This record gives sequence, C-alpha cells and structure tokens, in this order.
Amino acid sequence: MAALPQQPTILSFEDARHIVERHASEVHPGETETVQLLASAGRVLAEPVVADREFPPFRRAMRDGYAVRASDLTHLPVSLDVIAEIKAGAVPEDMPVEVHSGQAAAIMTGAPTPAGADAVVMVEYTSQSESRVTLTRGVASGDNVVPVGSEARAGDVLLRSGTRIDHSAIAVASSVGKDSLKVFHRPQVAILATGDEVVEINKPPGPHQIRNSNSYSLAAQVQEAGGEARILGIARDEAQHLQGSIQQGLERDLLLLAGGVSMGKYDLVEQVLAEFGAQFFFTGVQIQPGRPIVFGRARGKYFFGLPGNPVSTMVTFELFARPMLEALAGITPRTLVFLHARLKSDIKTKTGLKRFLPGLLSGEFEDAEVELASWHGSGDVASTARANCYIVVPQDRERIGSGEWVAVMKK
Ligand code: AMP
Ligand code: MG
Repeated sequence: MAALPQQPTILSFEDARHIVERHASEVHPGETETVQLLASAGRVLAEPVVADREFPPFRRAMRDGYAVRASDLTHLPVSLDVIAEIKAGAVPEDMPVEVHSGQAAAIMTGAPTPAGADAVVMVEYTSQSESRVTLTRGVASGDNVVPVGSEARAGDVLLRSGTRIDHSAIAVASSVGKDSLKVFHRPQVAILATGDEVVEINKPPGPHQIRNSNSYSLAAQVQEAGGEARILGIARDEAQHLQGSIQQGLERDLLLLAGGVSMGKYDLVEQVLAEFGAQFFFTGVQIQPGRPIVFGRARGKYFFGLPGNPVSTMVTFELFARPMLEALAGITPRTLVFLHARLKSDIKTKTGLKRFLPGLLSGEFEDAEVELASWHGSGDVASTARANCYIVVPQDRERIGSGEWVAVMKK
C-alpha cells in the first residue's frame, strides 16, 4: 500500500477558504465564443463592454414638468410664458432656440432639456392655463436634469471581462448596441462518486445499498455555478478502479470526487491521488458538515475530495469548490459574504467546529428570521431539501439564544 499523501493539514474554515481563493485568483479561463445577447445571460463576459457615446447623450429631463431657469423661481408662486412643448425623442427643430428669463418649456421625461433652462419643475407643482404656467415650488440649478456624460463618458468601460452576465449587464450591452457578446467556454467538471454501497439511480438498490445522489446534486450545483458537468459514474472502493476513474477525471478542467476521504480503511481517495503525484493544500477543515474535505492539484488540475455524506457534499461544494469553478469559468474572484437573520429559537451545539446547519429562513422585508430545520445529520437529504439556507454557527459558541442575529448562507 502506498504511503499516505503527507501530514494531514486541518485548517480553520477561513484559512481554507483563503487558500482556495488564492489558487482561484491564479487560474485562467479557457476559450471564448460569441453568442447572441439573450443567450449570454448567465455566461461570463470575455471582453469589456465600452460606452459608444456619452451617457446620457443629451441633457435628459428626469421628470414630466417645465424646463425653467432656476433663478426665475426665487419668489413663489411665479408665472412664466410657455414657449414650447418638448416630447421624448424631440429633434432640434421641435425645440426653442433658448429658454429666456420669464419663459418655460413644457417637457416630458426622457426629452432633451432646451438651452437656457437649467432645471425641471415637476408637473405636480404647476398649473397651466393657455400659454402661461404658474409654479408653486422652487428648484435648484440642475434639479431633475441629467447632464450629458454624467453616467458614462464615451470610451468608458461599463462592464469588465469576467462579469457574470445578469439582466442589468444585458441592459448595459443593449444600451451600447451590442446584440452579441464574447463569453468564455464553460469549464468541464468531472464528477466521480465513490463507494461500494452506492448504485446508479436507475438500478434497483439491494437492501444494503443506497442510490447515488451525490453525482446528480453536484452536477446541478456545477451547472448553476457556470460549469459543464461530466458524470464519471461510481468508482469502487478499490485502488485500481479508483485510479482509472481519477485518471479520466484529471483530463477535465476540474475534478470533484465525492466520498472516500474519511478515516475508514476503504477511504482510498487521498492515497490514490498521491500516486498521481498530487499536492495537497489541505486535507480537512474545522467545519461541520464536511470536515474531511480535501483540496489539491495533480497533473496540473485542481481537485476537491468532498465527503460523501450528501449534505456534506453540497455544503463543501458551495464553500470551497464553487470559487475555483467560478474562476475557471472566468468570473472575477469575489469574497464570500453571509447575510444575517434573527434567530427564532435557541441553538445548542458543541464548540470546536464552525457549523453550517440547514435552516428555514422566514419573516418578511427587513425582518428576516431563521430557525434550524430539524435534521438528522449530514446524510439527511430530505431535511436539507426542505431548508432554504444554512445557519452559520461560529466555532466558539455553545449556545445561541433566540432573538440573536446569526449569519446565514442562502442555499
Ligand atoms: P464516505 O465519505 O465515503 O465515508 O461516505 C459517507 C456517507 O455518505 C456514507 O453513508 C455513504 O454511504 C454516503 N454516500 C457516499 N457516496 C454517496 C453518493 N454518491 N450518494 C449518496 N450517498 C453517498
Ligand atoms: Mg465511502
């Protein structure tokens, strides 16, 4: 039997996460392709998107009302001559040459503000009769007018390469006239389940066997994070069989293994990876669920050995594998932040591990509340499926009282 990799390296959650982030900041995404604008939603931008002109390109009125000279409105109410009506889309011929003192132009939201006017009074504070308007509220110079180029100057980078394209990025691309975008290819992620007790989901399991849920939950997480999942099947708890599958897995951009990383006699994953010359960055993290998680690199490819308990697999993917996958997908690395909610009922745990416990987030608007989902440990997929978040319990807390604010990670 080959020697075990090296001294086990058990890290705190934060240190382990930072190690992954450091490696993630050094990887490079692969090829690029150009796709139609709408098909780019959810993909990762591989080019900067640049303003093709000033934003806004003209002095845009922000409100329906009257374009005026603010200095005309020092004594209220005041009555002014209405010399024009300017609609959104108005061309220079529709516009007065200039709004002089004592004059106003009726104007609509999105229309160009005429020369001479330096503010817009909202229609709510006006009443027009024939060609005179009475204004009951003053304005400061610049009120309700967006200056040319104040949002962006021509040539400014509006979206950086590495941005995950969401609806607001689509709005930006549309507004500069891009109907297609260059995006990175999705990284290919090999997924390898291990375990002699694990059978494929379309086979009837024996009474001592369980179905392979990890490959599928992981594949769904991989796809959601921007990768392409390649399920490699189930490796037996036998060195040679594992070897063949791991070799295949290392041909992809990233390898995720599930199971076989604990201390059991047949937990062979680390040993077999060591035979591939793997470098191990950590072999355990002080968390629950997911303590035995392994992170390393072999043959130039990163791998994660995720613990096989289904909830551990899901949580450790989110905490550690996701940032690496996102980096391979071309996404600019970002830090992990938790949200906060008020605890609805006490939590009692043991100290020593940072815990990510399935929780139920409820409440409304600014009053987020959370409580533990009833669960029976890291194998309890059913409870986790009912949960909508994980409650983050610091490792030095034995009890957190109802009413306290706790950190939560959205599922
Ligand atoms: P291991 O990490 O290999 O010690 O497995 C821990 C627990 O997770 C055991 O109860 C396994 O039966 C279970 N398990 C391992 N792999 C899978 C899988 N692919 N799908 C569902 N459960 C699994
Ligand atoms: Mg196993």
